[in-house]
Amino acid sequence: MKKHNFSAGPCILPEEVLQKASEAIINFNDDNLSLIEISHRSKPFVDVIENARSLVLELLGLENKGYKALFLQGGASAQFLMTAYNLLNNKAAYLNTGTWSSKAIKEAKLFGELIEVASSKDKNFNYIPKGYEIPTDVDYFHCTSNNTIYGTQMKSFPKASVPMICDMSSDIFSRQLDFSKFDLIYAGAQKNMGPAGTTLVVVKEDILGKVERTIPSMLNYQVFIDKDSMFNTPPVFAVYTSMLTLKWLKELGGIEFIEKVNEQKSALLYSEIDRNPLFKGIVVNEDRSHMNATFNLTDEKLKEKFDAMWKEADINGLNGHRSVGGYRASMYNALPLYSVQALVNVMQELERKA
Ligand code: PMP
Repeated sequence: MKKHNFSAGPCILPEEVLQKASEAIINFNDDNLSLIEISHRSKPFVDVIENARSLVLELLGLENKGYKALFLQGGASAQFLMTAYNLLNNKAAYLNTGTWSSKAIKEAKLFGELIEVASSKDKNFNYIPKGYEIPTDVDYFHCTSNNTIYGTQMKSFPKASVPMICDMSSDIFSRQLDFSKFDLIYAGAQKNMGPAGTTLVVVKEDILGKVERTIPSMLNYQVFIDKDSMFNTPPVFAVYTSMLTLKWLKELGGIEFIEKVNEQKSALLYSEIDRNPLFKGIVVNEDRSHMNATFNLTDEKLKEKFDAMWKEADINGLNGHRSVGGYRASMYNALPLYSVQALVNVMQELERKA
């Protein structure tokens, strides 16, 4: 039986997606050729990438609204740089909610003046700052919707009169939002969308073309838009597997459906963290992430016992990030509710045995 996979990313993918993806490696479309040995310009692959691009816009409710979906490379980390390269003329405003926001800020500083509108660094990023002002004279505002490492998630987004850019790497496709409030969304595939190797960028085309600098082709959104996301060879396996995952989500009932499952999963785990005297949550309750739940033992002496117990229960990927410690249960879209129940059972068993 497959392990209960709480890995933070790369992470669990739907079983049927893994099955279809592995079949395509041997024989794609019953054509007696592998997906990874045909031309990316051949019709079967062009159909795949076009399907993936349109599923993205459909699932996010962004069809016919001036948005383009691109499958790029370089991870979300390349987007820290690419967003600024394409959009930062003079000044930009950033909300600092953790490691990933800090890295985005560092890269953007190469291109102009950075205003950090707020930061939760004072408390090791265990909350989401609120009540800050976004200057009106900046080129854009950038935020990170879900902080994979600390386990915080923005439950609401500020109103901004400037373009909104959001790193949604670890919660895209997991909850309903008015995605049209954002002008550019990016996400590494390897959480809710597919395997590592491609990065989704959803960009409103009319925000482009406003910077004065010359942008190298490989870092220029417009170049990729003009070439239907195929300026160069795309990562075909990652794009195909993402397409399968997007199709899986659509067939389940889309974001509206999966959001309810995600809420059930996180409610089950957080209620056990709050009920069980042996555990305590790491971040402030109102900012808790539905994707990554971080928690500690109240008595560190139980660590060895608890670690042996969850490993024995076929649970994988529960160790917290090294900068936070403790435990982190990542509950991405493909993680079944019964896996969360399996973890809760172990937590209750520890309480009985301790
Ligand atoms: N942003 C967030 C919110 C992330 O969780 C991660 C990776 N875990 C990144 C950016 C960096 O992504 P990549 O490794 O694809 O560059």
